[in-house]
Amino acid sequence: MDIIVCVKQVPDTTEVKIDPQTNTLIRQGVPSIVNPFDKNAVEEALRLKEKHGGKVTVISMGPAQAKDSLKECIALGVDEAILLSDRAFGGADTLATSRTLAAGIKKIGNFDVILCGKQAIDGDTAQVGPEIAEHLNISQITYVSKLEITDGVVRAEREHEEGYEVFETKLPVLLSVVKSINEPRYPSIKGTMKANRKEIPVWTAADVDVNPEHIGLKGSPTQVRRIFTPKQRVQGEIIQEDNAHTAVNRLLTKLNQVKII
Ligand SMILES: Cc1cc2nc3c(=O)[nH]c(=O)nc-3n(C[C@H](O)[C@H](O)[C@H](O)COP(=O)(O)OP(=O)(O)OC[C@H]3O[C@@H](n4cnc5c(N)ncnc54)[C@H](O)[C@@H]3O)c2cc1C
Repeated sequence: MDIIVCVKQVPDTTEVKIDPQTNTLIRQGVPSIVNPFDKNAVEEALRLKEKHGGKVTVISMGPAQAKDSLKECIALGVDEAILLSDRAFGGADTLATSRTLAAGIKKIGNFDVILCGKQAIDGDTAQVGPEIAEHLNISQITYVSKLEITDGVVRAEREHEEGYEVFETKLPVLLSVVKSINEPRYPSIKGTMKANRKEIPVWTAADVDVNPEHIGLKGSPTQVRRIFTPKQRVQGEIIQEDNAHTAVNRLLTKLNQVKII
């Protein structure tokens, strides 16, 4: 089974700070990590490989320092890693990011399963995975909390607020995974040594089949006008009465006082 995992390097903080002038993330001084949900995706890929055989390849789009995150995945047992890195990819929104990753995946060639995290902890849109599936014209199941693949049929439990749904589809498939799917393993010493020696190929825009107008800032239809922390809302009041009639009367009086009715 050929498995590809999309791995994003993200700042190691949930307190992402925004530059008010440029409306972009301030990354200076913030250490980087593998997006936590992508670690679950890598773990699931390794488990699939252990069960079905095959190969696990991780791919990332990002600056040169994203190689560190890819090496971390090699240390966990991943076979190959590819970094898509080029100035032309910079400033990408989710659409341009997903186009670039889809082009990289096409260049890798064979794939049965593509795994993503449910979302990145910095961008938080959860759009990239589903968009990749659309570009590649394959099935997708998002928010997967349990996975089984037998004879080319994928059976996945998909988590939502009130429980889970069960979906079945055929390979090839893109799956985005949630934290509860597994407990990611730690790197072994042998794996870490292998990662230190591993050369990570870097593919630029010229190496993948993608329209230069469709990548980076140029290919990003999203325009960020302003990013700000909204003012905290004043807490509302809960009207609690033993009988509904009194509660409704109190509510009507309040609404009258603030001239809503
Ligand atoms: C106008 C605009 C400009 C932007 N400019 C920049 C910029 O200059 N620099 C910058 O870093 N960000 C920039 N961003 C943010 C960038 O769009 C997102 O970081 C990126 O598209 C991924 O979206 P997300 O973080 O919401 O990922 P999600 O959709 O939440 O991620 C879901 C999953 O997709 C996969 N994934 C997502 N991104 C990658 C990736 N890069 N490589 C591999 N797998 C991935 C992972 O498996 C991840 O778990 C910009 C956004 C906008 C709207």
